[in-house]
Amino acid sequence: MKTGKVAAIILAAGSGKRMESNVPKQYLEMGGKPILYYSLKAFEESSIDEIILVVGEGEGEYCRKEIIEKYQFLKVNKIVTGGKERYNSVYNGLKASSCDVSYVLIHDGARPFITIETIEEIIKSLSLHKACVVGVPVKDTIKLVNTNGNIENTPDRNKLWAVQTPQAFSYELIKKAYDIIMKELEEDKIESKKQRLNITDDAMILEYTLKTSVRMIKGDYKNIKITTPEDILVGEVFLKIQ
Ligand code: C5P
Repeated sequence: MKTGKVAAIILAAGSGKRMESNVPKQYLEMGGKPILYYSLKAFEESSIDEIILVVGEGEGEYCRKEIIEKYQFLKVNKIVTGGKERYNSVYNGLKASSCDVSYVLIHDGARPFITIETIEEIIKSLSLHKACVVGVPVKDTIKLVNTNGNIENTPDRNKLWAVQTPQAFSYELIKKAYDIIMKELEEDKIESKKQRLNITDDAMILEYTLKTSVRMIKGDYKNIKITTPEDILVGEVFLKIQ
């Protein structure tokens, strides 16, 4: 059961290089609507109290007119500009959250198939765990491959999960972890450049800084991230069968 105000930070500040399109992927259309529309709709219809939308530089007005006002997303109460990397965008969203927020769900705007059920389940889990993420067990065998292209080893598939979003946290905890990592990055304390460049989700910031345990919640294989052109084709099929 939720006990305090819950915010969602929805990330839409990526450039979408892998999409090979001039339009950022979150604004490309799928089923006649921008990709970003679908995740905003799920969060709008959930029990979330407020939404902070993080967009690319200069995209705020477009988003307000063409998505938020057009589809009447009333829970979006702030639009902030993102940063160079995903973690910079998350940090900007965290800093913009209302001061009375107890929990925050961080979600990739490029995951249009998030369901209200999953959002409610992760909010419910927050009463037991201060940090929870959704993910799915991997179906393929995963190999660790070195820079020469040779396999180093094969992790046990039974323990491997593909992490998705939302990732949900006590606000205080995740803000503290981000404050630490951002300070370290600023002071260049993180040893290898590679590590610095590879922060790809929020849970790993907690793993790295405060060593907090993070709960994995089984999500849905349909919660894909639209990344490359074929993902849009898959997404169109998902929309048809919904
Ligand atoms: O780049 P990637 O596909 O991992 O991005 C995941 C999500 O993070 C996307 O919704 C994207 O818009 C967002 N993002 C962001 N700011 C960045 C990079 C990515 O908000 N600098």
